[in-house]
Amino acid sequence: MPRRKPRPKGSQARSQPGQRPIGDVFGRTEDGPGGETYMVRAIAGTRATKYYRCPGCDHEIPPGVAHVVAWPAHGGEEDRRHWHTGCWKGRHTRGITRRWS
Ligand SMILES: [Zn+2]
Repeated sequence: MPRRKPRPKGSQARSQPGQRPIGDVFGRTEDGPGGETYMVRAIAGTRATKYYRCPGCDHEIPPGVAHVVAWPAHGGEEDRRHWHTGCWKGRHTRGITRRWS
């Protein structure tokens, strides 16, 4: 049997410094609308493959656009909302639309 070191094919570098798994996702926490603690996860443009409705401006986020996913820290996956990055940053001053719920 030849001795071989296990080596991943291609460049699948999955270990990213500074990020830790929280549940099954990578994320961080921020103060969300209403002062609650929210889990926040950045979505790269290449990972955005669907249309989402941004609760900050009530406009769609088209595929290919980097944006932010946020949900209450004590909530679940079903509470996730996709925000424009700018709308999320301005959530404290702009508030949210009626479509939040
Ligand atoms: Zn928006």
